[in-house]
Amino acid sequence: MRKHIVAGNWKMNNGLIQTETLISELKKQSKTSDAEVMIAPAFTNLWHAFQSTRQDNIEVVAQNMHFAENGAYTGEVNAGMLKSVGIKTVILGHSERRAYFNETDESLAKKVSQALEHDMRVIFCFGEELEDRKAGNHEAVVKSQLENGLFHLEADAFKHIVLAYEPVWAIGTGETASPEQAQDMHAFIRKTLADKYSAEVADGVSILYGGSVKPNNAKEIFSKPDVDGGLIGGASLKAEDFYAIVNAF
Ligand code: PEP
Repeated sequence: MRKHIVAGNWKMNNGLIQTETLISELKKQSKTSDAEVMIAPAFTNLWHAFQSTRQDNIEVVAQNMHFAENGAYTGEVNAGMLKSVGIKTVILGHSERRAYFNETDESLAKKVSQALEHDMRVIFCFGEELEDRKAGNHEAVVKSQLENGLFHLEADAFKHIVLAYEPVWAIGTGETASPEQAQDMHAFIRKTLADKYSAEVADGVSILYGGSVKPNNAKEIFSKPDVDGGLIGGASLKAEDFYAIVNAF
């Protein structure tokens, strides 16, 4: 059975003190669902966050990493560095990385391979822009993001991949895909995986939805059969809101 996962992407928010405060608030929340809980603080706070949550059911994950093993890449962080501070999962391909840092399907394919070589789990993000949806190209765009970013992998690798479908027009905008739009796309993603690999691979992969998920809409979105969780931006910065979403399963 695939897992339910709720992951909080803190983006470029929270210094050390705020990270400590938010983690202590998170620890006070009670969890009534079976969802795995993840938080993704900034690089500078990963070690501290890892140390503060190691006794709790919260996994600390990274927001990005470089595709190279080592070397002259000023300002970058590699998989080994993440592993060295306890991080076993990395978010790759977030639409903000694609839009503002020129990440392409091709560079992401290299990052995915590098993370898997280091035995990390990858949360692979993708999703169409508003123009794609308006033009009715959303499925074609998503299919090509999957093909170019992930379909170089062997079937077995998908045990270590979580997918996060995030329509760009719904991220940080307050605009959410309707539960039906999310379900339709998640079913399409699963079919695309089944066609390329097998029904077994497709059924085993958790597909998260991301884009303005809030306490008041999470339950309906998570009730859809192909939605296995959420990647949460804004609402992950408030402990009560985040756990209301975690507990929406
Ligand atoms: C995100 O950044 O992945 C995201 C989904 O953000 P928000 O929940 O704020 O739309």
